[in-house]
Amino acid sequence: MATGRVDLDGNPIKPITICMIGAGGFIGSHLCEKLMAETPHKVLAVDVYYDKIKHLLEPASLPWADRIQFHRLNIKNDSRLEGLIRMADLTINLAAICTPADYNTRPLDTIYSNFIDALPVVKYCSENGKRLIHFSTCEVYGKTIGSFLPKDSPLRQDPDYYVLKEDASPCIFGPIEKQRWSYACAKQLIERLIYAEGAENGLEFTIVRPFNWIGPRMDFIPGIDGPSEGVPRVLACFSNNLLRREPLKLVDGGQSQRTFVYIKDAIEAVLLMIENPARANGHIFNVGNPNNEVTVRQLAEMMTQVYEKVSGEPSLETPTVDVSSKEFYGEGYDDSDKRIPDMTIINRQLGWNPKTSLWDLLESTLTYQHRTYAEAIKKATSKPVAS
Ligand code: NAD
Ligand code: UDP
Repeated sequence: MATGRVDLDGNPIKPITICMIGAGGFIGSHLCEKLMAETPHKVLAVDVYYDKIKHLLEPASLPWADRIQFHRLNIKNDSRLEGLIRMADLTINLAAICTPADYNTRPLDTIYSNFIDALPVVKYCSENGKRLIHFSTCEVYGKTIGSFLPKDSPLRQDPDYYVLKEDASPCIFGPIEKQRWSYACAKQLIERLIYAEGAENGLEFTIVRPFNWIGPRMDFIPGIDGPSEGVPRVLACFSNNLLRREPLKLVDGGQSQRTFVYIKDAIEAVLLMIENPARANGHIFNVGNPNNEVTVRQLAEMMTQVYEKVSGEPSLETPTVDVSSKEFYGEGYDDSDKRIPDMTIINRQLGWNPKTSLWDLLESTLTYQHRTYAEAIKKATSKPVAS
């Protein structure tokens, strides 16, 4: 671990204690790894699961063993939460239900998780004068203005109609019966509440809007380390199809566009926020990679090519298949058409820029997926079916 580290203004960085809620998830596991390997900070890791950070907790001889503690607790109903927030200098809240397959099928759980369960976290930070970094989502932007223009309108090519800016873009969601938007709406309301706590009660906060962060340990592979019928986010869905040698399913033709950023690049941005409070407080930050834009169909094609390279297995004759959103996600699904983050604010405040190309990040991620799951899938699929 480096000593003599300084912040962006040249001041020495003092070690702090961080209460990280949702530390056992995809982003939390990478953030814990970074904090343990490269900083002197302590982490109170709060989650109901710890499989993704087990390698950081055991054995007790690990060099950072005295800087990370796991607290198994459900923030919905555990009175220990306030004590942990009080013990820390900074709270980072990552806890959420955040897989689109849940938004329209479990809208109540989604709204409770993303709004109601986050309320005590905000309240305890505000009442105890503690800094909060809260994870929101790029989905609060919803659909682009451009998506409402006629298909052949030249304005659709004008960045003013699609680039998403923290301080200028509206949040555009579909009707209430499109329950897909339950997540975005709950996240928007908690953002507004945090912003208001800042304005009225002086809460020191930073809000992060991740734009499709992807990499190793994201979600689960159905039937291996998650439920067989579960539907994770697109990276894990497509990885699962590739591992099982099934065609990749393109929802509604795979026409939606996304920008993908490598988790390790994105974690650099979060570390800058942690260690530069004077530059990060009071801000909402887009964190994404505007250079890595693809349609979901192009993503499927690229993942197929990369997987062929890393696994040495030839790709299928029919690598993709179209499926309707109703069939795949059920009633009430809807989609964001396009997500290009404006990078002006994060650039100005923290000087952060993403580095990794989509090809490179898929290559390292699919190498991990192949190494981690290929054997387990082979075993699972070669088991005789019980008669
Ligand atoms: P994740 O599901 O891997 O991690 C969330 C973690 O929170 C899980 O480990 C879960 O067990 C924990 N958790 C949920 N409810 C809890 C509770 N009541 N008590 C204790 N722990 C609880 O998701 P992630 O991708 O790491 O996302 C983290 C945050 O970032 C979420 O708020 C999500 O909305 C936001 N986000 C992520 C992305 C992305 O690209 N990964 C995109 C947009 C927003
Ligand atoms: N998608 C798809 N096939 C899948 C899984 C997802 O075509 O097997 C699409 C989904 O409809 C959406 C995009 O991929 O347009 C990204 O989905 P993800 O679950 O990663 O979350 P989102 O970016 O919508 O929050």
